[in-house]
Amino acid sequence: MDRIYNFAAGPACMPEEALVRAQKEMLNYNGTGMSVMEMSHRSPSFEEIIDGLECLVRELMGVPNNYKVMFLQGGASSQFSMIPLNLMNKNKKVDLVMTGLWTQRAYEEVSRYGSAKIVASSEDKNFTYIPELDPDMFTKDADYVHICYNNTVYGTRYTRLPDTGDAPLVADVSSCIMSEPIDVRRFGLLFAGAQKNIGPSGLTVVIVREDLLGNHMDITPLMMQYTTHTSTKSLYNTPSTFSVYMCKLVLEWLKGVGGVSEIVKINEQKAKLLYDALDGSKLFIPSVAKKDRSLMNVTFRTGNEDLDTKFCTEAAARGLDGIAGYRATKGMRASIYNAMPLSGVEALVSFMKEFEQNNT
Ligand SMILES: *Cc1c(COP(=O)(O)O)cnc(C)c1O
Repeated sequence: MDRIYNFAAGPACMPEEALVRAQKEMLNYNGTGMSVMEMSHRSPSFEEIIDGLECLVRELMGVPNNYKVMFLQGGASSQFSMIPLNLMNKNKKVDLVMTGLWTQRAYEEVSRYGSAKIVASSEDKNFTYIPELDPDMFTKDADYVHICYNNTVYGTRYTRLPDTGDAPLVADVSSCIMSEPIDVRRFGLLFAGAQKNIGPSGLTVVIVREDLLGNHMDITPLMMQYTTHTSTKSLYNTPSTFSVYMCKLVLEWLKGVGGVSEIVKINEQKAKLLYDALDGSKLFIPSVAKKDRSLMNVTFRTGNEDLDTKFCTEAAARGLDGIAGYRATKGMRASIYNAMPLSGVEALVSFMKEFEQNNT
């Protein structure tokens, strides 16, 4: 069977090399006579896998030594409560920049524990841009400021980070982790569900500056305390072992490509191809303001919902799958993560031109 081009937002396409390697090692991992799935998380073989994954994350992202890396479960969504439980510990004040669904979810959770303030929002234009952020918009004594670096649903992305003064910046990088270089030192905490850009579902990567640890709220369940996981190298309980292994294979592939500084060039090339096609089209309308366009999730529509549906159906029949937009925003969304080859975007652009000719 031929593989298709999968433009789904997540779980999403993964590098074929990583899948083939997993297939090869499925029944007998590295001479152990068993699959990674069957292996004790306390075995030397698995410890080597999870240690290797941490090394790769540190190397590929340039994570400084004063940051801890955790491999957790519960998805990026669990972080919406785990972060305030651990970091909202001084003045019980948190600032958020509202850029759509994922910051809405974070806001709801933060609100349970103290004062959550939306300092800026792009809701007035249906979250199609990133608000301008001035340093004096932020609360002076906020415990942290929460942003969503790349909004998967709307297709927006920060190209400039806000100056939040003394308040640590916390960023949801679920859909852009390792897609472009980021300076980890600018952040107090970064978190990402793996299933967009670096692996399968079931694994969440959290990177946190050490000095922010150890002051969780008294009510925090043990499993929700970061120190439970930082003091046990993410092996307090059974981690999602197979996801840890798959993520390592994906990052080995990324390293082979040349790392983040190389993949960003390919990502920029793919995004340009698609946005240029949208800007030059008389049928398709790109959804997001030019300056804030995501490299990973490209959102667009025709202005006619029936035609949008027709486009998605015909595209899928051509092996261009998963292009229907988020269920509430509708329209189209092509997710072009690290693992989407340039040839996939070329095939999509060529089908868009053909569809435009046949439907205008
Ligand atoms: C997908 C996504 C989430 C939710 O991730 P889960 O792992 O499903 O909890 C949160 N934030 C962003 C930016 C996402 O893309």
